[in-house]
Order: sequence, then C-alpha cells, then structure tokens
Amino acid sequence: MNLNDFIMANEVPIRLGFFFAVFAVMAAWEILAPKRALTVSKAVRWANNLGLVFFNTFILRLLFPAAAVGMAAFANEQGWGLLNYFTLPAALAVVLSVIAMDFIIYLQHVMVHAVPALWRLHRVHHADLDYDVTTGARFHTVEIILSMLIKFATIIVLGPPVVAVVIFEVVLNATAMFNHGNVSLPGRLDRVLRWFVVTPDMHRVHHSVEDDEANSNFGFNLPWWDRLFGTYRDQPRAGHEGMTIGIHGYRTTKQVSWLPGMLALPFVGKVTGYAINRREWSDSNE
Ligand SMILES: [Zn+2]
Ligand SMILES: [Zn+2]
Repeated sequence: MNLNDFIMANEVPIRLGFFFAVFAVMAAWEILAPKRALTVSKAVRWANNLGLVFFNTFILRLLFPAAAVGMAAFANEQGWGLLNYFTLPAALAVVLSVIAMDFIIYLQHVMVHAVPALWRLHRVHHADLDYDVTTGARFHTVEIILSMLIKFATIIVLGPPVVAVVIFEVVLNATAMFNHGNVSLPGRLDRVLRWFVVTPDMHRVHHSVEDDEANSNFGFNLPWWDRLFGTYRDQPRAGHEGMTIGIHGYRTTKQVSWLPGMLALPFVGKVTGYAINRREWSDSNE
C-alpha cells in the first residue's frame, strides 16, 4: 500500500486523531493559563459551539461523502488541474498545493467580509462573545457548504496531490484551533512565530467589534497574505484584555451563544452592508 492509498483509506481517523489531540492540548492550555475571562460559561460555549461543529460534520458527510480528498483523487484520475499538466517533484507539488490552497482560503475570507450576503453567514463566526478553541470551528452550516464548493473548484483548477489535500485540511484545522485559543505566547516568541503561522494574538484582532480591526488579519494559517496585501494589523487598540470581542448589535446570549440562535443569525436584521460601513470608515479616515 503506498502513502496515497494509506491516506485515502484512513483519512477520517487521521483527521479525527489530529483534531482531538490539538483540541485537548489547547483546552488544557486555556484552563491552565487563560488570556481573557469568558463572558459566557465554558459549558454553554462548548455545548453549543461543538454542537454546531458536529451538526456541520454530519451535513457535510451527507452532502459530500467523498469530501475534498475524493475530489482530489477524482481530479488526478481525470488529469484535471495545473499540477496534473506539469510534472513536478512530489514534495514540491505538495508544498505548492498547500500554499496555494491557503491563499484561496485567505481570499475567500476577505470575500465573506466584503459581500453583505456572505457576511450574514460569516457573522456566526464573529458573533461569538468570547474567543477560544471552539470559536475556531464555529461556522454557519451554509458557510461550511460554500467553503467545500470553493475547495472543490480550487482542486479542479489546481489538481493537487491527494496527500496535499489531507495535509492542508489537518494543518488548517490544527492552526485554526491554535490561533483561536484563549491563550497567548510570550511577546518575543509571538513576534517571531508570526512570520510563520498566525498566532492567537494575531487572529484575535480580527474578532474585535471595531470594523477596521475586524477587517484585518484574515489569514487562518499562513500569515504572509495579510502582510503582502496590506491587511495586517499588529495589535488591537484597546489591548487584548481590554478589547471587545464580537459584533455590535448582536450580543444577546440566546442569539449568539445558543445553537438555534446561531443557525438563524444570517437571516435576522436588515440587509445592511458591512462592506459599505467599512468603505465609509475608510473614506472618513484616509
Ligand atoms: Zn472573519
Ligand atoms: Zn476567527
């Protein structure tokens, strides 16, 4: 059995294994050295945020049983995608694929902030009143489905090796749990690490209620895209302990902390453009 076959056959246990291992490490770290005091009890947060994660996993498996890995295998068989046209050393193809897929995730994240209808979906992630390991996986089911369709399109165009898709999903999942952790690293270590991976202090800025802060640090995994495209912001103005997490106007527990409220969140309120507010902010500040 070669590596590809092994990964294909064991994709689910590999992903679950990494998920539970990283989750356990981050959860323990948050209990031992929390960065901020939680506003909603951990029991309520975990039950509802993780409830949404399990619900999403179930729906995704139902809709797309073969998932991204299946799509990558299919694209390879059909000879679809850039990397199936050019013969590159296997390791290089894997590295390029992981970097390219991360770039697409960055662009997708900028897009879901910029397009009002998509912001309605994405605000489920941002409406969390606290910031911890479970925030990292808290996305509306429709956004999760949209992400999967974008991933399929990326795979068809890119033609990444199957192993690259598994590595990418495992790494993205691990870094999302790491950088949503209610933890922080010593200042100097954080500054060095920020050149290689998005750290908790870097991504926390993105969860600020302040529009300009929420429209920065879009990276989930590699920190380079924000630096390259001018969306990087070093620290929140009010400091990590003083900043307010969440979205203005969506702050009742029933609406943002309980599962039914979260699922309904994209469909409540008037169609006000987050993107438009952002533009107003830029006009008056530039
Ligand atoms: Zn966001
Ligand atoms: Zn986030």
